[in-house]
Amino acid sequence: MMLERKILVVEDSPVVLKVLNHLLSQNPLFIPVLCTCYDQARRKLEEESFFAAIVDLNLPDAENGEIVDLVLLKQIPCVVLTGNFDDDLRISLLDKGVLDYITKDSRYSFNHAIKVVERLIKNEGVKVLVAEDSAANSQFVRALLEQYRFNVIEVDNGQEALAKLEEDSGIRMLIADHNIALVNGYELVRMLRSNARFQDLVIIGLSAEGDSALSAKFIKAGANDFLKKPFYHEEFHCRVVHSLEAQEMLETIRDLANTDPLTKLKNRRFFFEEGERYLRKANAGFSLAMLDLDHFKVINDTYGHMIGDDLLASFGGDMQGAFPDMLVCRFGGEEFCILAKVCGQELLDRLKVFLGHLRAKEYTGAKISMTCSVGLSCQSIGSFEDLIKQADRLLYEAKRAGRDRIISDL
Ligand code: GH3
Ligand code: MG
Ligand code: MG
Ligand code: MG
Repeated sequence: MMLERKILVVEDSPVVLKVLNHLLSQNPLFIPVLCTCYDQARRKLEEESFFAAIVDLNLPDAENGEIVDLVLLKQIPCVVLTGNFDDDLRISLLDKGVLDYITKDSRYSFNHAIKVVERLIKNEGVKVLVAEDSAANSQFVRALLEQYRFNVIEVDNGQEALAKLEEDSGIRMLIADHNIALVNGYELVRMLRSNARFQDLVIIGLSAEGDSALSAKFIKAGANDFLKKPFYHEEFHCRVVHSLEAQEMLETIRDLANTDPLTKLKNRRFFFEEGERYLRKANAGFSLAMLDLDHFKVINDTYGHMIGDDLLASFGGDMQGAFPDMLVCRFGGEEFCILAKVCGQELLDRLKVFLGHLRAKEYTGAKISMTCSVGLSCQSIGSFEDLIKQADRLLYEAKRAGRDRIISDL
């Protein structure tokens, strides 16, 4: 999804304006709209709609932060830049609903401002479930989350929270008060963490003042973090974003560990890990194909290893495109596997089409053509490993029989 967003920048210093414009332009999602004074910004705000704003407090025609009120009045998320740091001012701005308050002391400050705005884009795709029995508190938490453009759902008891989480696998974060009816916050965390399905859910516990043992209990049960009421919204945002980013990092690392960097296909490790589970769930038949490019060594020797790499990457992309509903992996070198929850005949038919396209295709400017040989195994002969061994044996037969063909045990 490539939806561009206009970011209003109001700043009278040409240098700062230039830096912000440069940083914002590096993200293809942003369209910076630059203004150097209050009046110009006011006109822009009437004409166009903005995703977020980065504004200077001190403008030639509005020296006391009037621009902030104007931007917030339009309900546009607002980041404030200023030359001087003042704690009272900071608190008054945050109370008004400004997202962040950043002093212009180094280039890192500008990067920080951009990061705050980038986070807003990510947050739009993040569904947060708030489980809180007091309507006033729930409304308060919702407002804090929506200020950061999170997508908020509310429930007022533990059982409803469980039901919502079961029903909507898109929920990424749960903010649960301890004192909620039917299943309390702490029990809720314990139940969720005992279920493999909710391992990646970010959970933040909330409690009333005075219960100091509860925070440890929440964390021990598996919550990512904990907040004691009444909390200050700056702390709330920091903790929410921190937990979310830690989880995102974890998922990125996991993806990297499961992905082959050259072809971006799943790697052998993932294939073995998932294969067994995949087979168990396959009730309408299954099949496994092993593909090996023919005489690939000759291609490397003729065109060089770099071109060889490009070809492997393109071939991987072609496979992903042809079998998007199946588990496709780079098994190693110039060998690939497809595991499908369909019967052998269906995979065989699709492989025939794929090999036909491959024969007709020319890769790179050098018009290199490639063929591949395939072993297709679809007989239930025990374990996942046995299935792989069988496909490998059939692949070997396909090579011996002259390559560019499929041999199956259908
Ligand atoms: P066959 O038809 O019998 O499969 O012949 P082949 O040449 O494809 O098979 P062989 O096993 O002799 O050689 C595999 C070749 O694949 C040699 C190796 O350099 C190349 N290869 C394996 N992994 C990579 C890679 O990541 N990049 C490149 N460029 N080449 C690779
Ligand atoms: Mg200024
Ligand atoms: Mg080969
Ligand atoms: Mg090989």
